[in-house]
Amino acid sequence: MDPKEFCIRGKQMVDYIIDYTESLDKRRKVFPEVKPGYLRPLLPNYAPEEAESFEDVIADLERVIMPGMTHWSSPHFHAYFPSTFSYPSLLAEMMITATSCIGFSWASCPAATELEIVMLDWLGKAFQLPAEFLSDSGGDGGGIIQRTASDATLMTLLSARHKTLTKLEREQPNQVNGTHLNKLVAYMSDQAHSSAERAAIIGAVRVRKLPSDEKFSMRGVELEKVIAQDKANGLVPFYLCATLGTTSSCAFDNILELGPICQREGIWMHIDAAYAGSAFICPEFRPLLNGVEFADSFDFNAHKWMRHWQIPLGRKFNSLKLWFVLRLFGMKKMQELIRLDVAMAREFEEFVHKDERFEITNEVKLGLVCFRLKGSNELNRHLFEAVNKEGKIHITSTELRSKYTLRFAICMGNTRESVRFAWEYISSKATALLSSPSEYGN
Ligand SMILES: *Cc1c(COP(=O)(O)O)cnc(C)c1O
Repeated sequence: MDPKEFCIRGKQMVDYIIDYTESLDKRRKVFPEVKPGYLRPLLPNYAPEEAESFEDVIADLERVIMPGMTHWSSPHFHAYFPSTFSYPSLLAEMMITATSCIGFSWASCPAATELEIVMLDWLGKAFQLPAEFLSDSGGDGGGIIQRTASDATLMTLLSARHKTLTKLEREQPNQVNGTHLNKLVAYMSDQAHSSAERAAIIGAVRVRKLPSDEKFSMRGVELEKVIAQDKANGLVPFYLCATLGTTSSCAFDNILELGPICQREGIWMHIDAAYAGSAFICPEFRPLLNGVEFADSFDFNAHKWMRHWQIPLGRKFNSLKLWFVLRLFGMKKMQELIRLDVAMAREFEEFVHKDERFEITNEVKLGLVCFRLKGSNELNRHLFEAVNKEGKIHITSTELRSKYTLRFAICMGNTRESVRFAWEYISSKATALLSSPSEYGN
């Protein structure tokens, strides 16, 4: 493809993207109707020997890919957590690929290295993180773009492990290989994301999952209890992963209680705020982050809500996306978008609250509402299936204290109308279900 053709195809691609994003509401179901294995029969068995035409490739996007797409940007997508894109981030994405630099050292691309440092400082300041977290404070602080929150958590666990093992080695040298490692124990709540436990498994340390309280929050008393037990058994508590905004129910661990205990015990406190982190740019939500001053590390996912020193050396110029997005939106607009999402979640909560057949099962603080029909898990499982069956809207479910629960997340394309539509849809499915209870074992 020469520059002239790229210019033409580029415009066609942009048109395609605009048509796709702006028509999601009208012409597509949010969840596809395909069965597992749908795709292979639609493709040849081998890659083509000769180049194919752009027209053919684009046509196959409609024929092969689109029928199997879950439309995350649809107004009717309320599943998982939001995953965002914006036109500014798309533009930056083009530049990232066009420059194709791999920033593994300052010299490999000074602009990429330095922009990332400054952008992460911008975000840290927008969250009002303590100065120690910032690069321009002159200390060891600073942020970095990891591929995912899971990578970030793993990195912090490995760092904490290294720090503690170095200290133990200094205090009690010449032990049999593995003696120190065998004693290390990492803590997290029973609500933590699976990536936290996986990090501990990869780090080859013991994991202790602490019971959360009635609001699904990890508390200081529980931590004190396990620390005492573990120390009595000769173990060394070294790491705690606290979650702000859990995946199941958007619950917040009590870092104001946990932090001072970790500090006293020399435990590295990591905060996983993958979803909720973006909300801290709004002053009214910032109190949820109080206690971060006790933390050693903090992660959040810009791509989940905010539109956008690690294992791999090579890094993409992803800070360019942050730069474009932060500048072309501005913090005020970003705050407005977060506030609107939270307001829509409140409205949905209100709909559920007014309907006596339902109960709310989480404390709605940001953009996630957990709810269920008052009744058996079986009944709620049937409701979940009925709601998702036709692909008109898409939600996910979870289990909270062994209660099967539906999750309604405010996601990228949602509007007040689509939220109301979703509620009416869910409500009508509930009515249909409840009118034939015997069928569903209620
Ligand atoms: C989504 C989520 C993760 C995982 O994020 P990835 O970036 O996909 O690794 C981890 N923790 C919490 C609390 C999450 O919500």
